[in-house]
Amino acid sequence: MPVDLHQETKTAAANSSAPVKKRTFSGIQPTGNIHLGNYLGAIRNWVEIQSQYDNIFCIVDLHAITMPISPKELHDSTRQLAALYLACGLDPQYCKFFIQSHVHEHAEMSWIMECFTPMGWLNRMTQFKTKAGENPDTVSTGLYCYPDLMACDILLYHTNLVPVGEDQRQHIEFTRDLAQRFNSLYGQQIFTIPEALIRQVGARIMSLTEPTKKMSKSDENPFSRINLLDNAQTIKKKIARATTDSERLVAFDENRPGITNLLTIYQLLTGQSPQEIEAEFAGKGYGEFKAALTDQLVATLEPIQQRYYELINDMPRLEAILKQGADEVRPMAAETLRRVKEVIGLG
Ligand code: ATP
Ligand code: MG
Repeated sequence: MPVDLHQETKTAAANSSAPVKKRTFSGIQPTGNIHLGNYLGAIRNWVEIQSQYDNIFCIVDLHAITMPISPKELHDSTRQLAALYLACGLDPQYCKFFIQSHVHEHAEMSWIMECFTPMGWLNRMTQFKTKAGENPDTVSTGLYCYPDLMACDILLYHTNLVPVGEDQRQHIEFTRDLAQRFNSLYGQQIFTIPEALIRQVGARIMSLTEPTKKMSKSDENPFSRINLLDNAQTIKKKIARATTDSERLVAFDENRPGITNLLTIYQLLTGQSPQEIEAEFAGKGYGEFKAALTDQLVATLEPIQQRYYELINDMPRLEAILKQGADEVRPMAAETLRRVKEVIGLG
């Protein structure tokens, strides 16, 4: 039976004095190694706020095929990402998890919304320009239309808040514009207008080797990022090779992006203020600071890794959580899609 989300909300509000929780939605592409940027810019923030909201976290495998990826890597990364979500502290008590391609409404609505998207809007998207690089004519049209699929992910669930890193701000603005355009075209509040939830610190963790670029899964240089599953020795090597400068002053300075990025990571891991950190390393060199940062990283990631290896070795449990999540969200997605098709006159 179709679920009327608005009716549900009204009934819940009428039956309880507790305020109805706002909905969050976010996702990560299973395109390879989940890194510190994904953790500090996204997952860790999701964990911190999970009990305040009604959360949906997706593993966006349809987004992952916008760039070439082998079937084995896609399949394995999808399960690994699910295990990492849980290992990082996301709790099925507060969050629904599912694999995007298991809810076909995402793909179907994406086609519809592409037909309502002016080409000029997509032409402005900076992520496409960065990812297409020198070859805009040979990358897939899926990469070009990526923002439409992302908009549908968000809009299908009447999402209020989208917790993401800074790189996704433009895509959330696009989603808002698309939703407003559709609502006003049909004179109905079909879509809830979402807002981005972006932290001030950690919203853009930079590459360790080229600190003017963001840290990314798709960067070809493995030394550019710390992966959540890197062991202590690998972390030590990567931090030792991380780009700094010749000033040898351990201080936050936007004109020195390498050391500032490492200090920002340290700030996020320790919870100290920039002033406290600068005082801690006053008169000390980059070597001492990098050793302290390495220790913090290992101490943060080792417990996550322990939980990850337990979870990934219990595939039936993981598959059951993902199936339950998909079964729970599918009726919401189906109802939104039904309303969209109805107002357009499809079917
Ligand atoms: P890809 O290179 O394949 O696009 P990615 O590293 O950009 O991978 P995504 O799956 O695109 O990762 O993004 C998942 C989430 O992580 C998003 O919320 C995004 O904003 C956030 N994120 C990605 N990179 C960073 C970063 N360097 N700093 C902070 N947040 C980030
Ligand atoms: Mg990305």
